[in-house]
Amino acid sequence: MKGANTDALLRAQCAAATRLMVMENLLDYSGHVSARASGRDAFYIQPAMQPRTDVTPGSMLTIDFDGNVIEGDQRPPVEIAIHREIYKVRPDVHAIVHSHMELAIWFTMMEGVQLLPMRARAIRWQSGIPMDDDPSHIKTTQQGAKLARALGPHHACLMRAHGSVLTAESLPALLVDAVHFDENARAQMQVLQAGRTPLPLTPGELEQIDKHEMRDFHCEKLWKYYVGKGAAARALPGEWDVGA
Ligand SMILES: [Zn+2]
Repeated sequence: MKGANTDALLRAQCAAATRLMVMENLLDYSGHVSARASGRDAFYIQPAMQPRTDVTPGSMLTIDFDGNVIEGDQRPPVEIAIHREIYKVRPDVHAIVHSHMELAIWFTMMEGVQLLPMRARAIRWQSGIPMDDDPSHIKTTQQGAKLARALGPHHACLMRAHGSVLTAESLPALLVDAVHFDENARAQMQVLQAGRTPLPLTPGELEQIDKHEMRDFHCEKLWKYYVGKGAAARALPGEWDVGA
């Protein structure tokens, strides 16, 4: 991937990842993608009222870890505590998406059913997919901190009757994770809808997949694919430099 993680690149990737997730039905009228700003306690996120199809690198707000808007003059999303509280306690996390993916939500509403690693790419969530039991919007620091505790060291957390949070090391990796998270949930749902018992990947199978995992290569390949698809569909302006 060309280019260092400059603030300009992060803003462009944040806007691009948002638009591409809308294109792939992973985000809709609500939900948001954020990126940790380099070298400071702050992150980029879109304004609350801007349609997810219209975000641009220039429209991204910069928010500090107290929740203040330090760059930009628009109102931030109501649920920024989700992003703020996770970045505070997870230095390994550089990108977050909170979405209301329907498939993910269904797995918070079925008695005795847990979202499991079904497809090979679900190796990403082999440590587990916990759930925060708070079904309301995350408006306070306390709620955000509780969600961050529920997430713990994992890379995904379901939110009861509300949505999900995914975390990654970069925005391209976050998009790829969102694609595979949805694929995995769909696979399990289709098995359930067929009236059959899901056969999730076993610990031995996960270990075997892990041995051959090439995450950086895979993320770079898929980022290039989705950026190209987005440009062809005119969801992304071709002139944005998003490091693809
Ligand atoms: Zn929400």
